[in-house]
Amino acid sequence: MALIVHKYGGTSMGSTERIKNVARRVAKWHDAGHQIIVVPSAMSGETNRLIGLAKEVMGQPDPRELDMIAATGEQVSVGLLSMALLAIGKKAISYAGWQVPIKTDSAFNKARIQSIDDVKVRRDLDAGKIVIIAGFQGVDVDGNIATLGRGGSDTSAVAVAVAMQASECLIFTDVDGVYTTDPRVVPEARRLKTVTFEEMLELASLGSKVLQIRSVEFAGNYRMPTRVLSSLTDPMIPLEIEANSGTLISFEEDTHMEQAVISGIAFSRDEAKITVLGVPDKPGIAYQILGPIADANIEVDMIIQNQSVEGKTDFTFTVLRNDHAKAMDVLNKSVKAHIGAASIVGDTKVSKVSVVGVGMRSHVGIASQMFRTLSEEGINIQMISTSEIKISVLIDEKYMELAVRALHKTFNLENA
Ligand code: ASP
Ligand code: MG
Repeated sequence: MALIVHKYGGTSMGSTERIKNVARRVAKWHDAGHQIIVVPSAMSGETNRLIGLAKEVMGQPDPRELDMIAATGEQVSVGLLSMALLAIGKKAISYAGWQVPIKTDSAFNKARIQSIDDVKVRRDLDAGKIVIIAGFQGVDVDGNIATLGRGGSDTSAVAVAVAMQASECLIFTDVDGVYTTDPRVVPEARRLKTVTFEEMLELASLGSKVLQIRSVEFAGNYRMPTRVLSSLTDPMIPLEIEANSGTLISFEEDTHMEQAVISGIAFSRDEAKITVLGVPDKPGIAYQILGPIADANIEVDMIIQNQSVEGKTDFTFTVLRNDHAKAMDVLNKSVKAHIGAASIVGDTKVSKVSVVGVGMRSHVGIASQMFRTLSEEGINIQMISTSEIKISVLIDEKYMELAVRALHKTFNLENA
């Protein structure tokens, strides 16, 4: 017997029919002798609908009141799922975040979990109940409902698993695992049986949005084995098969198989590049350019500064495409006047492609293999950045899919 947390996303909870299927699947695990906690999301589309209502009434919704509204989606889900379990003869009980309680800070719309009380939940589990806890929400020190940010129920599920010392957190979703890249771009993309937390973080932050990034960080920090698997299979599929399906996110030292050098190709279409031309090459320049950008809450990703010519240099960095206009504005106001740049140019038609794999640590030549492939395809590299387990390039957006396909082939990902 093990204590296992199941998380079901919006699609899996998308209709009362689907909720009944979730109940059958959960009951199957409980019947096998496990203690089960379920953390569901709101029914698909519901959180968007609720936020839409809020915006109809107040253009920039008050953050506290917005959480009051947005958190109701999950409250409906937990009640329905609990009833679906009761209706098939299981013992079940649902809780909103504040009832557990899941305590958070007071950063409405992006709250962080601080602690989870396990007393009630343990008592219920010991009484043979399936416990259903609303994802995405908690309560702050003053009793206000706070939500964790979009996609936050993944983080709720992992946090509950950690707090309850569960043996595994199963994230049931509408995809059957984590792939070597997006199958819509590369039809030969393959499901990974295992991926390390570090690789998953890179893959997630680079655009493979299977899980909320914070949930992966949480699982990694607290060493919670987390599996991504399909909720669209027959709910009565044998448990032994289901328990080994999907993708297990685990630790490098636990992956016994010979790891492939590269695990996946990630990409992000929505990048923008900004170049500040002809700035004086002297101490403090990077700070003067990027300081106001940071103050405006704009995240900077890749950065390069060129060799200086006659004391002047060019400084280039990337931001998300959504932030491009704002960043240009900030620079035109603050930087140009103060540091005397010749001009500032922006390019919103760039994308980032990255190869990711812990195997890079022990293999040389991955970068040159990547650059050779891009050169054979005639793709110009505009910027490069690297970490221990990742190499990223910035390229013209019109070559992004070509680059991903070529790299997927080069690193033999379709049949690793
Ligand atoms: N219902 C919330 C959202 O749509 C949380 C989640 O689904 O994880 O963002
Ligand atoms: Mg989600």
